Amino acid sequence: SPPPTDALGIDALARLNTVFGLPGFRGEQEKIVRHVTDGGNCLVLMPTGGGKSLCYQLPSLLRQGCGIVVSPLIALMRDQVAGLLELGVNAAVLNSTLSWEEANDVERRLLAGDLDLLYVAPERLVNPRCLAMLERAEIALFAIDEAHCVSQWGHDFRPEYIGLSVIAERFPDVPRIALTATADDLTREEIAQRLGLTDAPRFVSSFDRPNIKYEIVDKTGAQKQLQTFINTRHPNDAGVVYCLSRAKVEDTATALTKAGILALPYHAGLDARTRETNQDRFINEDGVVIVATVAFGMGIDKPDVRFVCHLDLPKSVEAYYQETGRAGRDGKPSTAWMAYGLQDIVQQRRMIDESTGSEAFKRVSIGKLDALVSLAETIDCRRGRLLRYFGEETTGTSCGNCDNCVSPPKVWNGSVAAQKLLSCAYRTGQRFGAMHLVDVLIGRLTDKVKQFGHDKLSVFAIGSELTEKQWRAVMRQLVARGFLYADADNFNALKLTEEARGVLRGEIELMFREETGGAGRAPRAKSR
Ligand code: ADP
Ligand code: ZN
Repeated sequence: SPPPTDALGIDALARLNTVFGLPGFRGEQEKIVRHVTDGGNCLVLMPTGGGKSLCYQLPSLLRQGCGIVVSPLIALMRDQVAGLLELGVNAAVLNSTLSWEEANDVERRLLAGDLDLLYVAPERLVNPRCLAMLERAEIALFAIDEAHCVSQWGHDFRPEYIGLSVIAERFPDVPRIALTATADDLTREEIAQRLGLTDAPRFVSSFDRPNIKYEIVDKTGAQKQLQTFINTRHPNDAGVVYCLSRAKVEDTATALTKAGILALPYHAGLDARTRETNQDRFINEDGVVIVATVAFGMGIDKPDVRFVCHLDLPKSVEAYYQETGRAGRDGKPSTAWMAYGLQDIVQQRRMIDESTGSEAFKRVSIGKLDALVSLAETIDCRRGRLLRYFGEETTGTSCGNCDNCVSPPKVWNGSVAAQKLLSCAYRTGQRFGAMHLVDVLIGRLTDKVKQFGHDKLSVFAIGSELTEKQWRAVMRQLVARGFLYADADNFNALKLTEEARGVLRGEIELMFREETGGAGRAPRAKSR
């Protein structure tokens, strides 16, 4: 953008350069900084890594008085304050970890006008004593970080955030800026209502992370695939590998270490010391790979994470976006890589079925899982899918930086193969799992096939034109699209859904993506 000519603009840019050491603003930052510095309220929606902190830190320096920042995570507050102190900004925290003397000292400095920024825990701020103290101080602005925590419908509701409506009531003349990285329409409205921002402008940034390349591959041998991915694409880079269970975290970290990759585990089952050491090494050393459960990452601001891998399917598109979003906060090329297979869908479905949630909750969860599965199965641009999921309009053309755009998957007409597979499940009584069905289709005379007399069925060996790997892919895609489901109460026996009739009658044409990174040959479904 052209250099500013007005006093505020010149001042803002100078502080950006000298205090933060940054050459220029990004995206909406400049507009937001101007608006808040001018005394306006606003709601900021910006993806993780977009640069939200600057939107309140800079106005706090430019305005008279101290900026009060409400943040839900003690660790995050500590990191931010440490970073600010290094830049020479007078910052402090006020939370339950301080002793009485320390807290007193912070309050004294605030009242004396010696602080630029003060991070306060929400439960602390709403305390009547604290509010009375703040009323005696000169306050530049209130920033409410992670504002979605105020929403009872959101995934991260924090009851102590509800009390924050008091800010608008007690300090009507101090600008308020609420910030979040995740908010659907409903949550946005709730934030605006509760924080008195219904008339305030909203600054909405695109959720696109253009430097992240999205890749989703067919899971064949996850550990081996992961090692190949790291060794060929990101050797000696820092990265995060997400697994669902603690045991798998341990196994994966061990396997990577054996393969000569510097990998450390992180999960809630480790003692606090080990967790802290591993996290510190990940942040401070170069090229450490952390293998973790999803608990890892909240509030970790490491700008040069070059890749995020998923060995298990996350719960939803939101979760996938948030976790992959930890890659490439510095804007440099990074990769989000996921290996996924039939078992993943089955496993996530079972977790939902077995959860103690209400029927409504389960329905919503299944819907969210389905959306993620269709992102994994899509033959179109993955970025486009992601952004449309978050309500952004896209041009619908190729992004040039996801696996599907870089090398468009070949598709083949799998209608006949699908009919064969569905018939096979049906004729064998809908009592068998994936492995047995593949044996029957390919025509393998296993003990189980003989025992049940399945070699006498018309479906025996009708599928010899495809390999086992290809049949598994067909099966996965049929489950993903809801024509087949694995019955968790019956050893994951594959059963037909109502919708499968349309396929069997030939009313539905199915185009499948050809699996890459494996056999490679386009399967040809011969017509009967
Ligand atoms: P968020 O809170 O939105 O997740 P942060 O405020 O932590 O994002 O910023 C993420 C990263 O981007 C940080 O490393 C920060 O230094 C960097 N950053 C922010 N604004 C800019 C900018 N204008 N130019 C370059 N880097 C920036
Ligand atoms: Zn794309």
